[in-house]
Parts: sequence; C-alpha cells; structure tokens
Amino acid sequence: METISGISASPGIAIGEVYIHTHEAPAVPRYAIPRDSVDAEMKRFREAAKTAAAELEDLRRNGENEIDEDQLAILDSHRLMLQDEEFHDQVERGITESLVNVEWVLYQSVQGIVDKLNSSQSEDLRERSSDLHDVSTRVLSHLTKRKRFSLADLPDEVVLVAHDLLPSDAIAMNKRKVRAIATDAGGRTSHTAILARSFEIPAVLGLSYVSRMAENGDTIIVDGNHGRIILDPDEPTRAEYAQQSRAWHQHEVQLMRLNDLRAETRDGKLVELKANIEVPDEVESVISHGGDGVGLYRSEFLFLGSGGLPSEDEQYEAYRRVLKALPGKPVTIRTLDLGGDKVAHDIADLDEQNPILGWRAIRFCLSNPDVFRSQLRALLRSSVHGNLNIMFPMISGLEELQEALSFLDEVRRELESEGAAVKKDLPVGIMIEVPSAAMVSDILARRSSFFSVGTNDLIQYTIAVDRGNERIAYLYEPFHPGVLRMLQLVVNNGHANSIPVAMCGEMAADPLATMLLVGLGFDELSMSAGSIPEVKQVIRAVSVREAEEVVGEAMELDSFKEVDRYLRRVMGERFGLENA
Ligand code: PEP
Ligand code: MG
Repeated sequence: METISGISASPGIAIGEVYIHTHEAPAVPRYAIPRDSVDAEMKRFREAAKTAAAELEDLRRNGENEIDEDQLAILDSHRLMLQDEEFHDQVERGITESLVNVEWVLYQSVQGIVDKLNSSQSEDLRERSSDLHDVSTRVLSHLTKRKRFSLADLPDEVVLVAHDLLPSDAIAMNKRKVRAIATDAGGRTSHTAILARSFEIPAVLGLSYVSRMAENGDTIIVDGNHGRIILDPDEPTRAEYAQQSRAWHQHEVQLMRLNDLRAETRDGKLVELKANIEVPDEVESVISHGGDGVGLYRSEFLFLGSGGLPSEDEQYEAYRRVLKALPGKPVTIRTLDLGGDKVAHDIADLDEQNPILGWRAIRFCLSNPDVFRSQLRALLRSSVHGNLNIMFPMISGLEELQEALSFLDEVRRELESEGAAVKKDLPVGIMIEVPSAAMVSDILARRSSFFSVGTNDLIQYTIAVDRGNERIAYLYEPFHPGVLRMLQLVVNNGHANSIPVAMCGEMAADPLATMLLVGLGFDELSMSAGSIPEVKQVIRAVSVREAEEVVGEAMELDSFKEVDRYLRRVMGERFGLENA
C-alpha cells in the first residue's frame, strides 16, 4: 500500500482499477467494440496478417542471396503461421467472446502461448516462442497504424492515471467510464481540473510520479477531498474509504435541498450563483444544482473535440441548445479562448515558446477574422433563442476591446443585411483576467456591459505563477494581498460605472472565500455546477455588514498566509469549515 499526496482538483472519493493513459498511442490499445463490429475487426486482422505475410515474402525475395538457409526457414515459418487457420479461428473466438478490439485479443492470446512455451524444458519450444512474438508484433504494428486509441473507447469503468491529461483528452473521454482521475502534472485551475469538476469526477493532480508507480489493473483509491491517492490499499483502508464515500454522497444530497432557495444574504442582498460549463450537455447539471444561469460557457471546447473547426451552423446549434434549455435565464457565452493549455493542433499551429503569454483568446481571434466571424455570426443568430450575453476573454486594454466591439458590430450589420434576426441591446462584457485590464478597469467599464473576473488567469499573471505547474502550486494564492487589492479595484470601478461585476474563476467556488467576495461587492459568482449548493449555504447564513467587516480585516493583513489563517478562523467559528 502506498499513499501519495497531490493537489485536490475535484472533490469526491472513488475506488477502482488503474488505467494508464499516455499521449502516444499505446503499444497495445484496448477498447470495447459493439457485437456487430466483430466481422469488421476480423477483416482488419486478416488484412494486417496479409500485409505482414507479404512483407515476409518481400524480405525472403530480397534477401535470398544474403541470408542463409536457417534464416529463410524462419521467414517461411513466420509466413505460414500468419496463414494458419487455427490461429485465425483462435483470434476470432477471442473477439466474439470478449467484445474487445483485435489488437488486444491478439496480444493476450499470443502472450498466453508465449508464457507456456517459455516455461518449457525444450529449447526448440522456447525458440518457437520468440517466433510467435515476432509475428504478432509485426501484425500489431500494422493494426495500430490504422486505429488510434481514444479515451472515448474505454472498455470498462476505470481510474484514469496519466502523466498529464490534455483538455482535448478530457473532453473526448467517455465520462461514464471514468471513476476518477490521477495525474503527475497539473494544478487546481488547470483545464483538466476544471473539466473534472464540471463532470463531477473526483480528481487528484500534481502527484509527480503516480503514472510511473501505478500499473494497469492495480487497485487505487482517489480521495479528491483531501488530495491524495492510495495504491494497492489493504482491506481496512478500502472499507474506510468506502464508508467515507457514502458519507460524502449523503452530504451532497443534503446540500441539494438548497436548490430551490435563492442565494440571498440575511439582510436581503441577492448574489446570483451561476454555472461554468464547457459542453452543452452540462446544462442539465446547471438545472439540477439550482444555478441561476450560465456565467461562463467556455466555447473553445467545441473546437477541441476530434472534429476540428466546427461550422457556423454547428456552433449555432450548440449555443441555441443551451439558451433554449434555460428559458429566461442569462447565459454568458465567452468567445473562443484557444491557446495556452487549450491547443487544437488541427486548427492552428499554436506551438509557441511561451503559450501562456502568447497567441491566445482574443488575440488569436482578432488575427483570424474568419474563425472569429463564424463564431460571432453563430452567437448573434442564437441570440433570439434566449437571454444571451457575449463575453470577450483576455482583454488587456482598450484597443483590443474596441477592435473586438467594432468587429462584432460589423458582423451584426452583415447579418441584418442578410435579413437574419438578431436581438437588440445584447449585453457585451469582458473578462478581467490580465492585470493591465484590472488596472484600467475604470476605462474598460465605460465600454462594457459587465465584468467577469477570471481569477484563474488573473492570479497566474499577477503572481507570475503558471496555473498548471504543480512545482510552484504553493505560490498560486487567491488570498495574496496583491490579488485582493486588484479584486477590490475592479469591483469599485465596475460599480462606479454602474455595471455588474461577476467572478467566474475557481476562487468563486471556494466557500472559504465566499464571505470575502460578498463583502467586496461581487454581484455574481459563477462556478462548476456542483459547487453552487455549498457556496449558497454560506451566502444564506451571513449578512453584507458582517461580510464587509471581514473584508475590512482581511485587507489590513500583510500576507496570503495571514489572510488564509484569518478566513479559516472566521469560517471555522461560523460554519466549522476550517478544513475547507
Ligand atoms: C479564468 O481565467 O479565471 C477563467 C474563468 O477562464 P479559464 O479558466 O477558462 O482560463
Ligand atoms: Mg482565463
């Protein structure tokens, strides 16, 4: 049994079997196939065996003058093996019985025979084992060239273990088959963590070397609440975690009772609690967790799937679906935030030395007018189906905002001249996630309908700490006085210009921060849907006056450690949340 500590990225507890995922296609992929694909799998096998046999034939012909009789005999025996009916029947039986892809069946059956031959006393038989191994490797290499494994095809329910998961992997994976995630790399606000929370899959990231310690099939416990994993747990530990898992679910069910209540402080201030979503399917979870709408729809995830650049109509359908599922409720759709750790290689060459400071988000859109135009057209067309707000990411100053706004105007005129219906007076706001934008938020507020503070990036850029790098995760501190001062400035500038100020970074989901955010005057908090009930519970128990007092005290403190300690004390006294 081995316990490893990492970063708690998504709450919950899960016990299951390890499945190691690497970015390279695995040597022997394994995935489930439907019953009616057995023939297609056999066809792939026959073709791969035929190609391998032809290859051996070529080798024989070309090498006739250079290789000796013994070697020729080996090539011949390999070729015969590939044509052996009994061998083909065995593979076919394996596929039909297990409904798993041919590569895996071939690998498994050959491995079984190889092991037997290897343990034989006879040297002859032991030699045959390496022949068999050779032949199967040759066929496997032809098979795997044609089919790349995707996490969409996971065979069983597993715990996904990887060095790192790309956001595109996480979006593609079959969520029903993933009980939990454990990775070596990543931080609390990396996009893998965000997706795990959105999909309500327990996750521990930043484990440094779990992908090297664990092996396929090992038993693993992932404790997302405390940020640790346990490999090969003994029986008492398993039982203890099974019990904790049940208690956690009960706690979740209890919190869901708050769903129909508003997030109103004791003295009557309403704070809107909305959800962050990445794919339209999540809208059901927004409703089931009592969200007041969508505060951030990360539209780039439509672009990170396997299909490459989505068409204007595909985008329109996705936006329309979300808007229609939440009649009357506000839905803020953020324009493309590709780049950084969200790379779509089939859309643009985003291989940069310093992607976090590079060609990302609005910068990418403004220099790819065709991509931007098709998204804005889709958004504007969808506007008649609900309460849409459009939001631009990564605005760093006025020029960028003006350019984006005038492009939006141009696209609106274009659509209107085509006779398309577009809603009038659409709110258009910006994310405040670059320190320069926070510093000039008084100027930006005059041209924006609303602000939404993206603390994930704002903290990263303010403290100069890569949000996905586990080695420096200890510096990634929302309660850093530098960050708190910026938040205060943004809220004050927004309110001085009569626009609402929201927060959609992960800080909004932390109950320890809730009093502080209410006291600072945030009008809206947006977070993964699963976090809404807990934050609501805090808001309903406090008054604005009390929250403002907390802000007054916290702003006097000199370091994030002091702020953290102070908030833990206050929350501990009020809610017993000191371990939050
Ligand atoms: C943020 O930066 O806080 C944010 C919400 O955007 P993302 O996490 O997608 O970068
Ligand atoms: Mg961001």
